[in-house]
Amino acid sequence: MKFLVSTNDLQGKERGDFSWVPPGELVARYGIICDAEKSDGTGCGCGRAFGGLVTNRSTTTAKVMELPIDEAGWRAEVHRMLQETDWARGLNLVGLANYIDWMAGRDLHAIQDLPTGTILGRRAWNEEGKPCVDDLLLRYRPEANSWLD
Ligand SMILES: [Zn+2]
Repeated sequence: MKFLVSTNDLQGKERGDFSWVPPGELVARYGIICDAEKSDGTGCGCGRAFGGLVTNRSTTTAKVMELPIDEAGWRAEVHRMLQETDWARGLNLVGLANYIDWMAGRDLHAIQDLPTGTILGRRAWNEEGKPCVDDLLLRYRPEANSWLD
């Protein structure tokens, strides 16, 4: 199964890139996007960042990798991280399970058709009166051997 992990590949290729997550650590999109984030990618950086499930730090680059774990293992890691970091505060058991389902849909199931080695960025921002926009950006697609940004 494929997962998103932190990578230093392509770091610095885009203005404002940063990575505080060791390469290879599982990453996902969680937390809250602040209102400073803009649709052009400017702002504080939270809308461009993936969070590391172990370090809880941020990176703007994530790589699609096959790992010898399964979805249940990934869900257990996400659950542990959400509890330890207090992101789960205010969610009852059903709410927490629903949140992890939602994360699995967009950060696990959504990447299964991408080739290993694909590098993704993120662009998220809030619009008045609408749900948060939160897109994965294709930064590198290995089968085409092309740099997309
Ligand atoms: Zn922010």
